[in-house]
Amino acid sequence: MTMLLDRSPGFGVYIHWPFCAAKCPYCDFNSHVRHQPVDQERFACAFETELATMRARTGPREVTSIFLGGGTPSLMKPQTVATVLDAVAKNWTVPDGIEVTLEANPSSVEAERFRGYRAAGVNRVSLGVQALNDKDLRFLGRLHNVEEALHAIGLAREIFPRLSFDLIYARPGQTPEAWQAELEQAIGHAADHLSLYQLTIEEGTPFHALHAAKKFAIPDNDHAADLYALTQEITSAHGLPAYEISNHARPGAESRHNLTYWRYGEYVGVGPGAHGRFVENGRRTVTIAERMPETWANLVEAKGHGVTGGEILTRSEEADEFLLMGLRLAEGIDLTRYEAFSGRGLSTARLSVLQDEGLVAPIGNARLRATPAGMIVLDAVVADLAR
Ligand code: SF4
Repeated sequence: MTMLLDRSPGFGVYIHWPFCAAKCPYCDFNSHVRHQPVDQERFACAFETELATMRARTGPREVTSIFLGGGTPSLMKPQTVATVLDAVAKNWTVPDGIEVTLEANPSSVEAERFRGYRAAGVNRVSLGVQALNDKDLRFLGRLHNVEEALHAIGLAREIFPRLSFDLIYARPGQTPEAWQAELEQAIGHAADHLSLYQLTIEEGTPFHALHAAKKFAIPDNDHAADLYALTQEITSAHGLPAYEISNHARPGAESRHNLTYWRYGEYVGVGPGAHGRFVENGRRTVTIAERMPETWANLVEAKGHGVTGGEILTRSEEADEFLLMGLRLAEGIDLTRYEAFSGRGLSTARLSVLQDEGLVAPIGNARLRATPAGMIVLDAVVADLAR
């Protein structure tokens, strides 16, 4: 099993930059294309304001990671990134050297800003490479080609201490042989972390309509399961085993920020459409911000934040979320923490059925993990355990 640095859940700060140069046809993230330049100074001010409001809610805390996600944060000017990172440090304690990730697209224009991001305090970049062949990059609607991706990877390795990149697999017509070659090429570029997602067809996206109209087909479940198994085999053989369903890292190179989500830690979410989950007045509170960027900025300017939804979770909702997140991890869940959330242990009868079916396995006496077979049907496993 992957050796992780520590198991403390942490306190992360997530910043959402909601703009993209173009909308990818598979994407259902909160991302928007603007044909006029975005007023970055206005958004930087709004981030500062909302961060201060969040600080008033969380009280003084020590931050364990910062993540600038999107959208396309590599469309932010380095000065905008610097303003946001300074604002985080003004509001909470930010120890030297904590993980500060920025998601970037590998187009040449964006790569030019890498040195500015590093100077602003970013020490880890997550590149949206998605494919290492031009035909599939065009199919995925990406604006970069393989040459630009390789250039951005090289530059990122030079500038940032840590590098991750994303690939999407189970693409139309992708054979196991082709995926193996592409994945091995990716590993050869020496990222210490890879996020490997299967192409899924999300409702409301252009791909959903095209897929329904039979304009293309994605691999069926059996083929996709074979590609998933192959992915586990190849990454493990090259020293980047899965530490989460879709995330692979050399030991010690796991994403601290994402571990906070999966270990059911706390995080503040700032920006349009951002979600947060933190303990306030002794209860885990969910915040959900307005998704439309300009409406969000208007709200922040009027009342100090753009939060328009959320709830206080009940103990049993917390326990369910803890299971759902934690069983995604190779390290599994701490059974004592589950008991603390839910007020009871997991049903031994259900556990033993799931164990007999090979879907979960104990790690010593104190932890439980999903097996590789269990990971594939994780929602059903969690639903069964949470009953
Ligand atoms: S760049 Fe990323 S966030 Fe933007 S549209 Fe494409 S997949 Fe979505």
